[in-house]
Amino acid sequence: MTAPQCVNPHCRQPRKRRGTEQAWEGGNGLCRPCYQRWWRAGRPQSGVPEPMGNHERMARARAVSAEIKREQRDERLREYMEYRDCRYTIAKAAFWVGVSVWTAKYRYEPEWRAAKEESAA
Ligand SMILES: [Zn+2]
Repeated sequence: MTAPQCVNPHCRQPRKRRGTEQAWEGGNGLCRPCYQRWWRAGRPQSGVPEPMGNHERMARARAVSAEIKREQRDERLREYMEYRDCRYTIAKAAFWVGVSVWTAKYRYEPEWRAAKEESAA
């Protein structure tokens, strides 16, 4: 018995068996990759969205990693400020949050001072 083809006109790949079951992978007449793409796009009436190009994929990955880095940086800064609020030295606070003393002194310290002045005002 031949496998049914994916109904996506841009794909037309034969669908695979789902494990040992008699069912086919995917759904709605689509192969699994097409079905997943269609589902994630919010099941548009227009059909399966085009697969992401390499360019778009890279751009998205970069945006995500930049966002993560920003969050990690904010988290470190918050932690640093807490240590400094507790009167620990720059070197100790830097060591505990895992940044260099240089970074602490020239990047975090001005922000901490600014935050302190703001709360004092
Ligand atoms: Zn397909």
